[in-house]
Amino acid sequence: MPHINIAIDGPAGAGKSTVAKEVARQLGLLYVDTGAMYRGVAWLALNYGVSPEDEEALVQLLEKHPLCFERNGQGGLDIYHNNICINAELRRPDVSSLVSQLSVYPKVRAILTRWQQEFARNHSVVMDGRDVGTVVLPHADVKVYLTASLEERTRRRAEEFQAKGFDVSVDELRRSIEERDHRDSSRSVAPLKPADDAHCIDSTGKPVQQVVEEILALVERICR
Ligand code: C5P
Repeated sequence: MPHINIAIDGPAGAGKSTVAKEVARQLGLLYVDTGAMYRGVAWLALNYGVSPEDEEALVQLLEKHPLCFERNGQGGLDIYHNNICINAELRRPDVSSLVSQLSVYPKVRAILTRWQQEFARNHSVVMDGRDVGTVVLPHADVKVYLTASLEERTRRRAEEFQAKGFDVSVDELRRSIEERDHRDSSRSVAPLKPADDAHCIDSTGKPVQQVVEEILALVERICR
């Protein structure tokens, strides 16, 4: 297959990562989870006690304690800090609550956007996030904007947390998703929104495989 970039954006819990991973697996492409990079910054801030309100300090933190990425056996990237894989840490509820506060900063976004563009230059990728189709890869071959109802997204996240042994109330989770969506869509830099040329897919009530097939059909049609 020629070099190809697929962008999948959408709000929290829309099923982006599950779907993107599966599309990447079926096409043999690298899966890049840009949300995990922003979560990495939030984790660093918590770990080193840096204020999420201090953009400069966050930039310095990233320069002093860079995150490293290694391709894993599942076709995605593992994130390392000081030679320790921190993937599991990134899904912690405290990281989830903090991340959208610091993803508003242009200087933080510029660093992460550069990393993401480098991956897409060097590999064929399926990349998911909030601004992949609009800012990171405006020339992506295929752009998808994946949504689902708030109820369904809350339910999916609750199941995800429960499976990982985190105890969270569904009402609290719904509030935190709504708050994160609001922050992500209302920020001035790279807000969450569909690219003009994105294909919108509502995954409410749809099994994962159906959404994957819709995207594979798009890829086949557009990149054939
Ligand atoms: O995708 P995930 O839920 O892991 O993303 C966590 C947070 O990272 C989002 O709520 C958003 O604040 C930020 N993010 C972003 N731009 C991206 C990906 C994620 O601002 N491309």
